[in-house]
Amino acid sequence: MIEVKNISKSYNTLQVLKGIDLVIRRKEVVSIVGASGAGKSTLLHIMGTLDKPDTGLVRINGQDVVNLRSSALADFRNQNIGFIFQFHNLLPEFTALENVCIPGYLSNKDAKKVQARATELLLMLGLKNRLDHTPSRMSGGEQQRTAVARALINSPLVVFADEPSGNLDSKNAQELHQLFFRLRDEIGQTFVIVTHNEDLANMADRKLEMKDGKILIPEVSN
Ligand code: ADP
Ligand code: ADP
Repeated sequence: MIEVKNISKSYNTLQVLKGIDLVIRRKEVVSIVGASGAGKSTLLHIMGTLDKPDTGLVRINGQDVVNLRSSALADFRNQNIGFIFQFHNLLPEFTALENVCIPGYLSNKDAKKVQARATELLLMLGLKNRLDHTPSRMSGGEQQRTAVARALINSPLVVFADEPSGNLDSKNAQELHQLFFRLRDEIGQTFVIVTHNEDLANMADRKLEMKDGKILIPEVSN
């Protein structure tokens, strides 16, 4: 599903990624952990096509996304990739339903179908009574679940999340974490999640630890 080959990235003289190789399978939930500055966000942004590596290759579902031109890349991203950030970035003047619909409208899908799917997702995420609420009228957990629905509206192959529960209390964080696994089971989503939350990191099918721009090779314990 996602293939990363020997990617490197520097900012000025600082080498942030030092030859990363990684394969992520369809329906896998992968967590990425490591100290601040290890390169986690940079790796996530490059896999998510928000940033380009200096060298190396990234393929998503067979598509080379490093060498795609920017207009094709924007289309590819909108159709195949969902993002969840620490802060939900919902548009404050729009309702939950409208926020979830916007990426669907941007991909030129039929508006009625987008609204139907958005409603379905919000119901599935327990937000039945929040469809017409603006973000300021929802709790932090509800806002973040709305952001999850928004990430899923175009049925992406993969969802990248950067500290998705970093701004939630532990109860809401737990609910959000369980949701990722439910979505994987029920709609077959692949998740790649950068997190400092140990519970979430350890629940994942695979936990990758980064240090100084590299992925540490796990110790085999048996
Ligand atoms: P992490 O997510 O593990 O905390 P990051 O990938 O955010 O690590 O950052 C790794 C290093 O790269 C840090 O030292 C950070 O300051 C630096 N960095 C990240 N983005 C930029 C940028 N756009 N310009 C310059 N330095 C950056
Ligand atoms: P995170 O909390 O996910 O590690 P950061 O706070 O390190 O993220 O970075 C947030 C944003 O700022 C990212 O888009 C990153 O590329 C950028 N950034 C991080 N460090 C620097 C830096 N030293 N110079 C310029 N931009 C940076």
